[in-house]
Amino acid sequence: MYINGSWLSTDQTFDVTNPANGEFIEKVPDATSVHIDQAIGAAHNAFASWRRTTAYERSNLLYRAWQLMMEQKRALAELMTREQGKPLKAALNEVQYGADFLLWFAEEGKRVYGRSIPSARPDQRFWVQKQPVGVVGAITPWNYPVSMITRKVGPALAAGCTVVLKPAESTPLCAMAMFRIFEQAGFPGGVVNLITKQDPVPVGTAFCEDPRVRKLTFTGSTAVGKLLNERAARNMKRVSMELGGHAPALVFADADPVHAAKGLSLVKFLNTGQACISPNRILVQREVMAPFLEELSKRIGAMKAGNGMDEGVRIGPLINDLAVRKVENQVKDAVARGARLLNGGERLQTPDLAGGHFYAPTLLTDVTPDMLIYREETFGPVAAVVPFDTEEEALAMANDTRYGLAAYIYSENLSRAMRVFEGLDFGIIGINDINPTSAAAPFGGMKESGLGREGAQEGIEEYLETKLGGIAVA
Ligand code: ADP
Repeated sequence: MYINGSWLSTDQTFDVTNPANGEFIEKVPDATSVHIDQAIGAAHNAFASWRRTTAYERSNLLYRAWQLMMEQKRALAELMTREQGKPLKAALNEVQYGADFLLWFAEEGKRVYGRSIPSARPDQRFWVQKQPVGVVGAITPWNYPVSMITRKVGPALAAGCTVVLKPAESTPLCAMAMFRIFEQAGFPGGVVNLITKQDPVPVGTAFCEDPRVRKLTFTGSTAVGKLLNERAARNMKRVSMELGGHAPALVFADADPVHAAKGLSLVKFLNTGQACISPNRILVQREVMAPFLEELSKRIGAMKAGNGMDEGVRIGPLINDLAVRKVENQVKDAVARGARLLNGGERLQTPDLAGGHFYAPTLLTDVTPDMLIYREETFGPVAAVVPFDTEEEALAMANDTRYGLAAYIYSENLSRAMRVFEGLDFGIIGINDINPTSAAAPFGGMKESGLGREGAQEGIEEYLETKLGGIAVA
């Protein structure tokens, strides 16, 4: 753990294992309530001076951290593959994406503008200034163990906030590597603090209840996000929530079905389906169903599962056995209710995959609203295809979910694409595009997918308060 500029170890530890083969990797400290308190105290004390640094000083440190990430890209990616399981190429992409946030906010921090507002009184001026919220408690997930850290820590530090971060219990090593970078970059003691803990509950409680913490930023499941939001509300804390999704992908008859199948096969199986923007329901207009399925099935059939360190592997392990069981259950339920299985549909248990949590890349079609997979987030390598006839029907089906994070549209008809874009209740929409994410673009969801946005100009606003001065001018 990294508290007040020092690395701490403890007698109590927990183990980190490789999800591809079950191998033990390392023991990490298991924080006690004393450590949580110390970390919050350190961030609170450091805030007094950190808030007074200039945006230019903060920018220089973030820029340095970005440089270090780029220098250590390969090592960070290899650690990520061992700890989290994604193929090395995907891990390299994630390190780059994660570094982008440090660079973006190193710049954006210099553009935190206030404004002056004319008053109705001739002897008065209004002056609006932005200032950092204060100590930020950050909780991050395991599926993007580096970029979810920089996406929160980058804007928080740029804004002048200090941070206590708790990473997911399955990926603390990536977080430790990132904090070594923050240390090397030269952030003063107490500005960024890391606590590792197997049981997340006491950390969540402290972040919601401790009056020194002014803001909670969370990425994870909707269930946990709601719980934390309720508790944070009791103390009127500011929150940002990046929660679950159930992304629809709409493939219209005026799209190229082969191009759509290619794109959706890439984004569906990204991170083995363990991404909140992963398409959960692929809605396909009946006229193009046959060529679409043929191409998608061919591509899924060619995907190689295995250890992400091995060349050519596209499908890594799921994070743990519970995740595999959840996928098994959704597929069984769908098949029992009449879905057709075109690829996969089983756990992978060949000797070369022993000890790992693998599920075969799977294609289900004829999926209907009564199936679990139609409503529950999948978080696994299963593409669920649903036929539709009209645009109106497709839009209604797409919005028929409590989630509102990402959606995808495939159509070559501009009017239709715009109509559907405007009708979809989702925060991030790819139009003939499967990667609508960037440090420069606002990421976040509507409905039960969360509150607030990360990245872009909006990303730093989440860490700023607005202060008004009414000034009498004699
Ligand atoms: P996922 O399905 O991605 O594992 P979780 O919401 O369980 O989603 O986990 C995301 C992050 O939230 C992790 O860092 C985890 O430790 C943390 N977390 C889980 N439950 C709680 C809780 N009750 N209070 C605070 N943090 C929690």
